[in-house]
Formats: sequence, C-alpha cells, structure tokens
Amino acid sequence: MSAKIIDGVAIAKSVRAGIRDRAQKLQKETGVTPGLAVIIAGDNPASKVYVRNKVRACEDAGINSQTISFPGDVSEEELIAAVGKLNDDPAIHGILVQLPLPPHISVRHVLEAISVEKDVDGFHLYNVGGLVLGDTVFPPCTPYGVQKILEHEGIDVTGKNVTVVGASNIVGKPMALMLMQKEATVAICHAKTRDLTLYTILADILVVAAGHPNLIVPQMIRSGTVVIDVGINRLPDGSLVGDVDFEGVKEKAAAITPVPGGVGPMTVTMLLDNTVSAAERAAGRA
Ligand code: NAD
Repeated sequence: MSAKIIDGVAIAKSVRAGIRDRAQKLQKETGVTPGLAVIIAGDNPASKVYVRNKVRACEDAGINSQTISFPGDVSEEELIAAVGKLNDDPAIHGILVQLPLPPHISVRHVLEAISVEKDVDGFHLYNVGGLVLGDTVFPPCTPYGVQKILEHEGIDVTGKNVTVVGASNIVGKPMALMLMQKEATVAICHAKTRDLTLYTILADILVVAAGHPNLIVPQMIRSGTVVIDVGINRLPDGSLVGDVDFEGVKEKAAAITPVPGGVGPMTVTMLLDNTVSAAERAAGRA
C-alpha cells in the first residue's frame, strides 16, 4: 500500500481563501481591516525569511501588516515598550514576536506583555491555560494547522490512539492538549522516552515534531497509520526534510504529510486565521 500524500499547499490555499473572504466581509461591513504587527530582534537569517513569508501572506489575505525590527542588542525594556504601544494601537489586532529572541532577553517576559486579545501566536500564559481548559482564544498556529489538516482530510481523532513525538511548548504540548480535547487517547514522547517504538507502534495517528531527520522509520509504525510530519531539518546538501523517513514510511502509512509542502504552509495560514479572528472580536463580530 502506498500512502495518500496530504497536500498541505492545496489545503492552505483553500483555507486562506476563506480567511480572505472573512477579512473582506469585515472591511466592508465595519470598515475594519485586520492588522498584524511582527516584532523581530537581531539578524537571524531564518527568522527574517519567516517574517517575510508572514508579511507576504498577510498581503494576500487582505491583512495590513507592519514589521518592527530591532538590533540584536535591544534591551528587554525596549521590546516590552514596543509591545505596549502595539497593545494600545486600535489598528493592530495581532502581535507576533518572532522567536528566537537574543539570549539576554526573557522570552516569557516579552510574551506576557502582549495583550491576551492580540496574542495571535497563542503563547501567552492565559492562552496556554485556556488550552488546558479547552477554551483557548488563540490556538498556537502549528498544532492548529495540524488539526485543520486532519479535519480537512476527514480524519476523526475521537477515540484514536495518537502519539505525539516531541513535547515542546510551541508544538508537542499544545498539540497533545488539542487532541485530548477532541477525545483522542494521547501519548507524548520526548528525548528521554526510553523506547519510542513502544508508543509509535500503537498509533493510529502519529504526529512528529522532534527536529531529527529519519527519526521515524517504517518498522516503528503499523500499516495504515496516518503520519503528520511537523519537523523541518536542513541537510548538509541544503535540502529540507522532515523527521520521518518519507520514502520508507509512505509505503506503510495510510496518509502522510510531505516536507516541504505539508504542515509548514498551514502554520502561517493559521496565523492569518487567528489575526482575522482577533479583528472580528475587536469589532464585536465574534
Ligand atoms: P524543540 O527543539 O523545542 O523540541 C523538540 C522536542 O522533541 C523536545 O520535546 C525533545 O525532547 C523531543 N525530541 C528530541 N529528540 C527526540 C528523540 N530522539 N526522540 C523523541 N523525542 C525527541 O523543537 P520544536 O520547536 O518543537 O520543533 C520541532 C520540529 O518541528 C523542528 O524540526 C522544527 O523546525 C519543526 N517546526 C516546524 C513548524 C512548521 O511550521 N512545520 C513549526 C514549528 C516547528
């Protein structure tokens, strides 16, 4: 059996069309154009590419965006002051602080300064707590994107065994909470997990976000598993791969997301979704 290759680019395109329609409707009916502000500090080349992609995606979706760049030696106080100004700006509905921040700055302090109503990345403690209770305002974009992919593919997680490999605050943990909310039976694995295969072999759905090429090989999954590969790794030859041995695993899985072209396009898409939702809420429409 060869797996269905899930086309994240096509799903993102169709979800973005809906987001664009919502932005247009809001503009027409209330005069409000959704606005996103992105704060970036330092010259991490990957961060610059991510920010550029987000700005371009905003333009396509009818969202105003502004990028506020700081040098790498910016102080925590300056960053927090910039966040404060954006909190007070009625034209800005979403604030995103591009991570990583320079090491002398506390990510937690800066993220906590973002107004909860504008926390479109979903990293503020309030939104994280909301995830635990099942009523978060803004789901974090990458796991939200995975959830949308599963919905789009008609894959119901209720009662399924789902194994999440990776337990970071931005992907693995919120992913596990969102799946639990949908009544999946969730196992969470991480770098200290003793026998990874013990958990991956149980999975009806396997979500992998560890940042290790070829971590998941065919012997580790059952035939018919749905495999969602969140990992993005650059190999020495410059190519991008996920965490899953795609060629091997696709012969055994029921469905699989490729890298690139799987989860990646959905992450930015859900940022747009959260930004339009924030603007709708600010205009009293949601
Ligand atoms: P992270 O480094 O913060 O966390 C990695 C997690 O994986 C940790 O919990 C760690 O314990 C676990 N892990 C590491 N090695 C493991 C192993 N051998 N076995 C089991 N677990 C292991 O990374 P992150 O920010 O969560 O990102 C994970 C991957 O997802 C990276 O490749 C990153 O580039 C990618 N990513 C992709 C998107 C996207 O839009 N597609 C978004 C965010 C992150």
